Amino acid sequence: MLDCLPNSIDPLEYADKRRRIVGSVPLNEMSRVRDMVLNEKGEAKVDLEFRKEGRRAVVSGWVEADLELECQCCLEPLDWPVRSKVHLGIVSTIDEGNLLPEPLEPLLLDETGMIDPADIVADELVLAIPPIPQHPQCALPKTETDAESRENPFAVLAQLKNSRQ
Ligand SMILES: [Zn+2]
Repeated sequence: MLDCLPNSIDPLEYADKRRRIVGSVPLNEMSRVRDMVLNEKGEAKVDLEFRKEGRRAVVSGWVEADLELECQCCLEPLDWPVRSKVHLGIVSTIDEGNLLPEPLEPLLLDETGMIDPADIVADELVLAIPPIPQHPQCALPKTETDAESRENPFAVLAQLKNSRQ
C-alpha cells in the first residue's frame, strides 16, 4: 500500500519547492465519493506535482481508481475504472480562475490558503462518475417501455368505462 496523503498543505509553498505528492486515499474517507460507490473499501491512487509555470502555481498529475458503481437499471455492480489527468492553476479569486488558459482548471484557495489534497482526488472522481451509471447493455432501449405502452391503452379504456358508469 502506498503512503497516505497529508491532510492539509500550503499549495503555493509546495509549488515554490516543487514538491510532489504520491500516495493513496481510501474511498470511504471522501464523503462525496463514498456515497456514490459500492466498493468504499477501495482506494484512489494519486500522483500530484506542484510547480510553477511562469509565475503561475500549478498542480499536475493524475488520479486513478477502480470504482464500482451501482447500475441504475439492474442495480448490479458496474466496474468503472477512472484515470483522470489533473492540471490545475492555483488561484485566490474566481476572476483569476476565469483568466486561466486552457486546459488549466482553477483550484480556488479559501482565505486559509491551505488545501486537503484528498479534495482534489474527490473532485476528479466525482467528475468521472456519470449522473446515471448504467451497463452498456442496460442503457439500450428496453422492453419496459413497450410494456408500458401496452398497458396504457387498457388504463385509458378502464378510465373510459368508469366515466360512463
Ligand atoms: Zn445494469
